[in-house]
Amino acid sequence: MATLSEITSLCKRRGFIFQSSELYGGINGFWDYGPLGTELKRNIRQAWWRDMVSWHNPLLAPAGAPAAFAMVGIETSVIMNPQVWKVSGHYDLFQDLMVDCRETKLRYRYDQLRGRWAEARGRKIFITADPDAEDEFDFVSRRASKLFKVPTGSPELKWASDFMSLSQIAVEDFVGVLAPQAQAPGTLSEPREFNLMFKTYVGALTSEEHAAYLRPETAQGIFLNFKNVIDSSRVRLPLGIAQIGKSFRNEITPRQFTFRSREFEQMEIEFFCHPSTSEAWYRYWRDRRLRWYFDLGIKPANVRLREHDKRELSHYSRGTADIEYAFPFLPAGDFGELEGVAHRGDFDLRSHMEGKLDPNSNPLLVERDSAGQPRWRGSGKNLAYRDERTNETYIPHVIEPSAGVDRALLAFICDAMQTDEAPDDTGTLRQRSVLRLSPRLAPVKVAVLPLVRKDGMPEIARDIHNALVRHVAVQYDEKDAIGRRYRRADEIGTPLCITVDGQTLRDNTVTFRNRDDLSQWRVHVNDCEAEVRRFIGA
Ligand code: ATP
Repeated sequence: MATLSEITSLCKRRGFIFQSSELYGGINGFWDYGPLGTELKRNIRQAWWRDMVSWHNPLLAPAGAPAAFAMVGIETSVIMNPQVWKVSGHYDLFQDLMVDCRETKLRYRYDQLRGRWAEARGRKIFITADPDAEDEFDFVSRRASKLFKVPTGSPELKWASDFMSLSQIAVEDFVGVLAPQAQAPGTLSEPREFNLMFKTYVGALTSEEHAAYLRPETAQGIFLNFKNVIDSSRVRLPLGIAQIGKSFRNEITPRQFTFRSREFEQMEIEFFCHPSTSEAWYRYWRDRRLRWYFDLGIKPANVRLREHDKRELSHYSRGTADIEYAFPFLPAGDFGELEGVAHRGDFDLRSHMEGKLDPNSNPLLVERDSAGQPRWRGSGKNLAYRDERTNETYIPHVIEPSAGVDRALLAFICDAMQTDEAPDDTGTLRQRSVLRLSPRLAPVKVAVLPLVRKDGMPEIARDIHNALVRHVAVQYDEKDAIGRRYRRADEIGTPLCITVDGQTLRDNTVTFRNRDDLSQWRVHVNDCEAEVRRFIGA
């Protein structure tokens, strides 16, 4: 697979992705999409919207689905009443600096991890204590003896510091930090602030009562409108409500190109169903969403579905699976999240109804009044669903497939970028860079090329271009030798080239060239549009 620097260089050179505000030195975590990136991103959004929403048939159960169901779309505002984020838990939960252990998947409050430097056998390791350990001294001593394979209290083991907080250690030195339950040092992530919401003020005043937040996910806008959609659209459950839109997270360490950005786009579905069927729907969505990436050409070997184990699950979740991609910038064997599919039970609707959850399971939802009494914070509105056929009233369960457009785009580029060999103008095999994007996603579907700039070829090629331009994304290119133009088209993933050549002048046929296998065939000028449609499946 191509390296990150090859990918960023292609993206910049060919106009897929630019650094935001580059003229002024950029701004970390923000990106702009150039002409080709914009088309590619639009095609990803469109493929998702068509496959999930507009091409969905509510009368037929798709393969593997427990039943037929409805799908509708929605578009909600980025800034909402701040109470939304209090009830959703984002306001309270997004607050502390956290570090994650990559090995055990345990998460620690950055300010709560303490430990001390130990030295033995030429190595110096910072051994952390479990915040829940009764005796941190004893905990750390036993860990040190096990790590260095020396008996506790042995003079071979030297303590190079007293107990100190992890926050006193430079992040670069985390490679020498042993996390509380990990087997080997170096598994702790950089500290990440959990309150990732961007704050702003609505109106002219900047006092706290006017504070508001840019949404960190599009999902809440869907929950808030569940009742509106049901009451206005004559749809019944099971029902999916889909939304594509920007989300904002003030990530502490934006990095790995667009993988972790501060402004990004999400494609989310909240699927509402009867609680007794939710497990089956969870499995359906998990498998269907995974298949979607394969159908768009991602190589199965580079993707995996990872079910969260119990410790990783949010307290309300009955199951979450991540669809992960082996991004080339991750350490070998590591995968990064493309999409999460979560079984959220009735947590969200119930919270927005009553906010009256068990304070032991989610104490952060509970605000206390001056007398220390809990004050519940839901809307107080009834969001239960009444099934007219069975007369049953219930709070639906929700399955949430939540994908990132930018991460999908990056994965599609990483997966499609290849180098192979193709003959040049003289027939000699030369290396070429090719982007094997699915024709559905390719930003340009067809390049129309006159072989030479004379003998009337440009005129015929322009006519073909002009006939196609309202039907498919087509580019006309007459500059440079034909071989170089093929290479340019290959590099940006154009699946088809149409060349007007000498034979065109004699028999009105043109050459069609397939990007992937380099095969060529002839098509009558009048049949170009039909042949292009057949080839790209449009
Ligand atoms: P991560 O653990 O990588 O931060 P997450 O679990 O917080 O991701 P979710 O809240 O499940 O992510 O968001 C759903 C999807 O939105 C992710 O699968 C990803 O595709 C996308 N996404 C989330 N955060 C970012 C980001 N900072 N930059 C780009 N895409 C993102």
